[in-house]
Amino acid sequence: QAHTKKRLWTTADFQEAFPKRGVNSHKGDHGKGLIIGGSEPMPGSVLMTTKAALRTGAGLLTTASVKNVISMIAGNNPEAMYIGASETDGCITGIDNIDLSGFDAIAVGVGLGRKEETAKGIFPALLKYKGPIVIDADGLFHLRAYAADFKLRQAPLILTPHPGELAALMDISVSDLLMEPFRHSSDFAKRLNCYLVLKGKHTIITDPDGNQTVESSGNPGLAKGGSGDVLTGMILATVMQSKSIFAGINNACFLHGKSADLLVQEEHSEQDLLAGDVIQGIPKAIRTFS
Ligand code: AMP
Ligand code: MG
Repeated sequence: QAHTKKRLWTTADFQEAFPKRGVNSHKGDHGKGLIIGGSEPMPGSVLMTTKAALRTGAGLLTTASVKNVISMIAGNNPEAMYIGASETDGCITGIDNIDLSGFDAIAVGVGLGRKEETAKGIFPALLKYKGPIVIDADGLFHLRAYAADFKLRQAPLILTPHPGELAALMDISVSDLLMEPFRHSSDFAKRLNCYLVLKGKHTIITDPDGNQTVESSGNPGLAKGGSGDVLTGMILATVMQSKSIFAGINNACFLHGKSADLLVQEEHSEQDLLAGDVIQGIPKAIRTFS
């Protein structure tokens, strides 16, 4: 692996690649994103993913979920549009009513639940989509059954597992994974031809060739339910707006950690910081670092 690069993503990297809005900028220039997620037992995750994508500059955003989740989250995120997916017992079971080709990128997985009908209703349709796909959370659980198909897909695939999720995907133990996180990340990213975000204290981001960056921002205030769902929305937004997928992913991780760091320095503690606060901290992080 001597030929691949491994380095820290810096403030200068962030500043160079973070999207700017030109004076004549149009909402279409900043990406039309689709989020597919949520189920009646887990309405909050997709709410946060939606808000985080909006706060990170997505031009137009649509969230597809089950009816009751949409009615819970729409008032909180009036800037987004909503599509009711097919559903059974409060979980998504189909997305045939959505024209995926109209979107610049898709994020799938948060709050979906682990029913097999949910995967069957979503993944075969996703495989035909020709743009970047971000898969997180329960989407990573379902990916196990479709990994071989995704490997053959040409368009960018971005996976955002925490160590438990990646270990399960690789069929190894978490302790083995964490003994050599760089090597395992690189092996897996090459094997699946994907971008891989292995989340943790120092998030490791790997491109399909095995080049790697490390995220130095962030603090244990993020070690709570919802933090990852926020990151997924941020990645969707930055990937749609960036020339480089790799830079877009890195910038989302950088901003996510910086938002948490500024909040803990100024008004919160690591104990009380919530994932929703991290979304509210995005504006200040953008102003401070861009
Ligand atoms: P998830 O496990 O999907 O909720 O994602 C957790 C998010 O919080 C990821 O972005 C992690 O990088 C971040 N995170 C979790 N624990 C820590 C920690 N101890 N220090 C810094 N970041 C963390
Ligand atoms: Mg998660």
